[in-house]
Amino acid sequence: MIHYGQSIFEGMKAYRSDNGGILLFRPVENQKRMNVSARRMAMPEVPEDLFMESLLELVRIDRDWVPDGEGHSLYIRPFQMATDEYIGVKASDTYKFMIITTPVGHYYSEPLRVMVETQFFRAVQGGVGSTKVSGNYGRSLYPTQLAKQKGYDQLIWTDASSHRYVEESGTMNLMFVIDDVLITPPLGDTILAGITRDSVLTLARDWKMKVQERRIAVDEIFDAHARGHLQEAFGTGTAATIAQISTIGHEGKDYELPPVPQRYFSNKVGKALDDIRRGRAEDKHGWVVKVV
Ligand SMILES: *Cc1c(COP(=O)(O)O)cnc(C)c1O
Repeated sequence: MIHYGQSIFEGMKAYRSDNGGILLFRPVENQKRMNVSARRMAMPEVPEDLFMESLLELVRIDRDWVPDGEGHSLYIRPFQMATDEYIGVKASDTYKFMIITTPVGHYYSEPLRVMVETQFFRAVQGGVGSTKVSGNYGRSLYPTQLAKQKGYDQLIWTDASSHRYVEESGTMNLMFVIDDVLITPPLGDTILAGITRDSVLTLARDWKMKVQERRIAVDEIFDAHARGHLQEAFGTGTAATIAQISTIGHEGKDYELPPVPQRYFSNKVGKALDDIRRGRAEDKHGWVVKVV
């Protein structure tokens, strides 16, 4: 029964290493997060061994579909949905867990033009914003369509009560570098705990960069921009890894950000993550799982 929205998913990628092997990046984090979504939606959890065995088996079968070009990978989509043939509103007694794959190239090739959304919202305290439940994505399509009509690629979601604090951009976590400090909104009900987000913060801390997980006001971003202190703005997520933001639109005005080649941290961390995922750099944190 699809009507009551018991539908959750995950997203990850398999990468081809230089020696032809196939590697996954932190797949157990996807398994854990899928179960966070499952619990919140009153769905059964998928045990780690079932999840990992199905995943590894499927990627082995699909091994020839893992592309080897720069920026290319095999996108993997695990999902679970209710399947009861029963119309009453209740948690389903039966579910289907499936995994599908597709080869992909670069997600965003150009830096993004994003618009601060102050009418619609993505998530609220006590809601389901921290889960990958299908309804979160369906609800975001219409506001995103409106932004696209105005010439933007994506939205910057703000908090539902005041619309003064930034939360996420599209299906990515948001990060800013202001005065050499890496700043991102803290995890909570309204922020999806991105695996890329965690990996970027971990590397930044390894490199002794100053990191702040705290609320960021829209005004703070534009104040920093006006003073010339906003150095970088980007989204993080499995699809794009680092999606550079070139322009932020707010109340009819466009704010242009520094050119991408000048962005020291995001360029460096994007390359570092890519090198780890493809087995070119030392995997200090034990993030990489070898498939073949
Ligand atoms: C999936 C997702 C992210 C990014 O998570 P990753 O694990 O880094 O891919 C960020 N925000 C939202 C809303 C998402 O759905």
